[in-house]
Amino acid sequence: MNTLARFKCGAGTRITATFLSLGLSVGVLSAQTRVRAPANKYTPAQDVQLGRQAAAEVRQQLPILNDAQVTSYVTSIGRRLVAAIPAEFRHGQFHYTFQVVNAREINAFALPGGPMFVNRGMIEAARTEGQVAGVMAHELSHVVLRHGTAQASEATKYQLGAVAGAIAGAIIGGRVGNVVSQGTRFGLGTAFMRFGREYEGQADIEGSHIMARAGYDPRDMASMFKIIAQTSGPGGPEWLSDHPNPGNRYDYISREAKMLRVNSPVRDTRAFRATQLRLKSMPPAPSMQQARRR
Ligand SMILES: [Zn+2]
Repeated sequence: MNTLARFKCGAGTRITATFLSLGLSVGVLSAQTRVRAPANKYTPAQDVQLGRQAAAEVRQQLPILNDAQVTSYVTSIGRRLVAAIPAEFRHGQFHYTFQVVNAREINAFALPGGPMFVNRGMIEAARTEGQVAGVMAHELSHVVLRHGTAQASEATKYQLGAVAGAIAGAIIGGRVGNVVSQGTRFGLGTAFMRFGREYEGQADIEGSHIMARAGYDPRDMASMFKIIAQTSGPGGPEWLSDHPNPGNRYDYISREAKMLRVNSPVRDTRAFRATQLRLKSMPPAPSMQQARRR
């Protein structure tokens, strides 16, 4: 294969491939771009343990929307995407769960080993199910490529508990997040789960593959990113600060989509409309800041 197409994300190795070269590899391979999981000093079982610890902390500190209908809708999208994970990135011990955080910010995050949280604001801002699936496919790709622990691997091999605390603290944010991450030797400034452009590029490309295999159009992921980028307001979309645009994000996702044949992709669904109506009938979602203050 064209080595330029590989993402070089091993410990200490910065990415050298540009997205221009990714584009070139398209012509050479006439197939989808190959994604390789970065080097990782942790075991998949450690991903699971770490994610479980961080998720327990997140569930305690953030308001989870306990609405069976909304949760089951998001879970149905999640399961469909999980079923489409390519064989090489399947980890038997990973356990994928999907929950909605009752916060208005457009955000979503997934923890090592499988727990995923989608903010209510994300579902409200989306215009189609395909767009919700796009953000979730991107998040899921960070999990299957094990980016959380790969990032921790780039530094010293830390104690799992410390990494879990740092991740949970960074996600929860604010004063509570500070308390959670305290004593973990990392301040909130440590960018766990804030990935660089190489991991972002990988999650976009792998997310496109998973979407296509699940019957979604990867271009819906790109269009959701556009909605997020155009959304202003207090605090701005947190998702963007956690998932920075590696550059030309919309172009390379569209290019990748052209190589992935999806016949009559799932886009707008009745279940999506019903979920949005249901959310509208509820009292408005608090901001993360308000939620943390409870
Ligand atoms: Zn990302």
